[in-house]
Amino acid sequence: MKQIEIVALPGDGIGPEVTAVALDVLKTVCRQFHVELKATELPFGGTCYEQHGKPVTDEILDECKNKKVVLLGAVGGPSWDDLSADLRPEAALLKLRKELGVFANLRPINVYPALAAASTIKEEVIEGTDIFIVRELTGGVYFGEPRFTSEENGDPFSVDTMKYSRSEVHRVARVAFEAARLRDKRVCSVDKANVLESSRMWRKSILEIAGDYPDVELSHMLVDNCAMQIIRDPKQFDVMVTGNLFGDILSDAASMLTGSLGMLPSASIGGENGVYEPVHGSAPDIAGKGVANPLAAVASAALLCRYSLKLEEAALKIEAAIQAVLESGLRTADLYTEEPGTTLANTKQISDFLLKTFQQKEAAI
Ligand code: NAD
Repeated sequence: MKQIEIVALPGDGIGPEVTAVALDVLKTVCRQFHVELKATELPFGGTCYEQHGKPVTDEILDECKNKKVVLLGAVGGPSWDDLSADLRPEAALLKLRKELGVFANLRPINVYPALAAASTIKEEVIEGTDIFIVRELTGGVYFGEPRFTSEENGDPFSVDTMKYSRSEVHRVARVAFEAARLRDKRVCSVDKANVLESSRMWRKSILEIAGDYPDVELSHMLVDNCAMQIIRDPKQFDVMVTGNLFGDILSDAASMLTGSLGMLPSASIGGENGVYEPVHGSAPDIAGKGVANPLAAVASAALLCRYSLKLEEAALKIEAAIQAVLESGLRTADLYTEEPGTTLANTKQISDFLLKTFQQKEAAI
């Protein structure tokens, strides 16, 4: 058996509950592909602050850099909301992304047929939606300097800086064009080039890379129009590439097409490094109740197999198991609508179903 080591950062709130399920699934499926997966679990976010007085330590970051592959739960919660910005759990996330250089955040937005009715948007609008959002993750206004708060004539003000360099746009553009080549060969680049200098640089740089991909059709869309188009006609999109701030907002809007935040996985990649995490947060309102939907974390484990372990078949197997859960009618509370043929399930019941699916497949082999 080949041995692979990764780091697991379960984090806060429901993070540990959903990460435990994802790890069980990951280990089980990897074993079927002759890979023994070992995960070193470390504290992160608020949990790390409680133990070490900061949301992430240098030792934890070093371990992530050494192992290169990280499965993350979620961070944050009301207990840490009043801490200074550098001590808040979210600071650990930004630091981890920056230190690992994971500059491209990949968010597949698929509407599962079994859940089309669970969305607040009309079924005929969303069914068949398959968008692949590539969000730049280590630049833009979340990282730009200077950032400060000061005062002018007794009136306090704050400054953030939205900055993009040509090379930053080039590398994320390549990720998007490469992804499009494996799909419908269309890239839509989203910016605010009618107003922002940084967006004009973004658009110019995207066009430079497009020259290397004549087989991929490129279009541009302003972010305000895009926010509307995602809801109006989501099927028009194939790959979407955009900056950090716009991607953050658009991908959460797109998540509602799928019915629940609890369904959406993400992969953040750069070089050999990868951070895999559900899109949702730590859901403090349901933490510890055993009712969290673990499927986004499990789908993130599938992306880990695809992009870091290069085990495409394992990824497909995990994705098929998620589909099987939904087809069985089991629904966690976030998805449950009392529709005939569906049953309310807790985290453990979903986990048991998933693991049983793999055992059956194993027995069949
Ligand atoms: P959230 O995603 O945690 O929760 C929003 C709503 O969705 C809640 O009602 C929650 O119960 C529900 N929900 C989310 N995930 C679910 C799941 N897997 N199963 C069932 N229901 C689920 O967002 P929020 O409430 O805005 O933020 C809570 C905390 O999480 C905050 O501290 C925030 O900063 C943090 N946060 C962290 C991340 C991250 O770690 N990447 C992302 C977003 C928010």
